[in-house]
Amino acid sequence: MNNKSANLNRELLSVVVPCHNEEASLPLLFDAIDSVAQQLTAAHPHICIELVIVDDGSRDKTITATQDCAKKHPSLHAQWISFSRNFGKEAALIAGLEHARGDYVAVIDADLQDPPELLLQMIEPLLAGECDCVAAQRVTRQGEPAIRSFFSNAFYKIINTISDTEFKSGARDFRLMTRRMVNAVLDLPERVRFSKGIFGWVGFETQWIPYENHERSNGSSSWSFAQLVSYSISGIVAFSTAPLALASAMGIILCLLSLIAVIFIVVRAVLFGDPVAGWPSLACIIIFLGGLQLLCLGIVGQYLAKVYEEVKGRPHYVIKDQGSSDITESPL
Ligand code: UDP
Ligand code: MG
Repeated sequence: MNNKSANLNRELLSVVVPCHNEEASLPLLFDAIDSVAQQLTAAHPHICIELVIVDDGSRDKTITATQDCAKKHPSLHAQWISFSRNFGKEAALIAGLEHARGDYVAVIDADLQDPPELLLQMIEPLLAGECDCVAAQRVTRQGEPAIRSFFSNAFYKIINTISDTEFKSGARDFRLMTRRMVNAVLDLPERVRFSKGIFGWVGFETQWIPYENHERSNGSSSWSFAQLVSYSISGIVAFSTAPLALASAMGIILCLLSLIAVIFIVVRAVLFGDPVAGWPSLACIIIFLGGLQLLCLGIVGQYLAKVYEEVKGRPHYVIKDQGSSDITESPL
């Protein structure tokens, strides 16, 4: 068999890794993925791996570390993309998916919180054609502050109640998808991206693999509590219009209540006269209504802000530099 016909049946698995200040984690990640790649090709000789490292405006030497590791592990056919600044994990994810050339595409964090060995388990149902996506689901939230777990659980309860798209609690972005699912994800043109929802929205059969949470290999999570709150609000705004309906419902209920109150006051004035009293309660009511109006305005504002983001149509990211360990050859 010549090389060309041998290549015809080969399949490529791209592993997309968003990285922000992951200089210290990358050597460990490359080692771990290399060992997975060896086991994978031993079990399925027709599969070849490529790594897509996206440097999301890191301030450390993430890109130099990537290039060094890529040289040390030529069999991983690493390619890298470096952003002009920090655009956020969602932008890094979409850049990785856009540049991945694989028939199967995995998304994995750089900090080894997502165990790369799971890829060996994840590929099997995809190769057997049982589903289009195999995703990891954390069964414990060990190592996470209790308050963060509490708000996280509350977020999943709320969003699942008000949105048609299913959000799995404990679901990570760590997953392996077929090319057709990746293409569906890439076809969604929205600027404000919330991948957890997008993966659910595109549909396709997904199998879940439960696993225990791992501690970060290095450093600490780059998400502050405020960032998580803002990310959750983006998720709700992107996948549900229920808050707008809630604002209208509150308006209607208050109108009805005030109508009843007016009738009550008029009847009381006719029957018992009109003593001038009750200004403190009046002040409370005015403040309450003022607050409620601002809340509703804020809800409308959140949606308006997202519409503004979409209308501007700015790119998700700006690339400063990119390269690969084997520019001339395709891994296949
Ligand atoms: N990340 C990124 N851009 C950012 C923040 C994070 O690409 O602005 C990457 C980070 O390097 C890691 C992954 O996204 O590979 C998950 O980030 P992190 O571990 O901070 O989040 P957590 O695990 O706490 O959800
Ligand atoms: Mg992490």
